[in-house]
Amino acid sequence: MEFERMPGFHKLTSLWRIDYRAIAKEPILTMTADEETKELADRIVGKKIQKTYPDLVPLIFEGKAGFSGNAVKGLFRHLIAAQLTAAGIPVCVQDVKAPEGVPEGRRRQCKPPDLCFVCNWFGTASRQGALHFSFLLSTQPYEEVISKDPIPMIALSDENMGAAGRAFLMAIAVKPGTEFRGWIKGENLSKEIIGAIAEVVDMSKEGFVQFGGLKTRGFGAMELEITSIKEYSTTPFKLKKEYVGGELDRFLGECREAYHRVLGSRG
Ligand SMILES: [Zn+2]
Repeated sequence: MEFERMPGFHKLTSLWRIDYRAIAKEPILTMTADEETKELADRIVGKKIQKTYPDLVPLIFEGKAGFSGNAVKGLFRHLIAAQLTAAGIPVCVQDVKAPEGVPEGRRRQCKPPDLCFVCNWFGTASRQGALHFSFLLSTQPYEEVISKDPIPMIALSDENMGAAGRAFLMAIAVKPGTEFRGWIKGENLSKEIIGAIAEVVDMSKEGFVQFGGLKTRGFGAMELEITSIKEYSTTPFKLKKEYVGGELDRFLGECREAYHRVLGSRG
């Protein structure tokens, strides 16, 4: 498969900052929940529920509801890997994710330096990636974004999520309409990987990108929008270009085309 390799970390040729926002289209359940956060959410909601505390409440960080960068990164990685697999592009599956062997259409976990597109940009267990995802946090305080209506549900065995043995769950979700902000930092990015990120953003517009837990129960869809991309040169370090508005649209169009060439390079 042909794609533009990351030139390596020993040589920093460009730095990128991709700012984006996410709007919740459905209730959102970021998976935390330590007992303290459950207690806090319970106090904010202030309703009698048939439990000491709710079972599932959103993650709280610096007074905001949100997701860890690792959770966001995992979602992007998964969608891009699945898309490349469908296009017949060899992408590896991490050993820990496939205890029963490599699924059809995938290859064994990459060994550096022979990396698949996904490992090249997202990293492997032993080699860090070129992409770093910030926390994705609500713009409004936690108290204002969590729903005051706890959602009762019956847990299925494959979704016990730490509440094993309790069939009845109480969930407190982030309200639809809640806005989150986050950013992605990149080193030596190619147009292809920016195009891959743009495709995930496009999928989100149609409700196909879901964050957090209980996805099969109608939770988690978020609509993403890239608000700006800044490209920095490194010798010396300075802002080379900021893409916003029409220029951002044009640039993302070029990046999508570059990524589509990767998708079309086999299959
Ligand atoms: Zn790989």
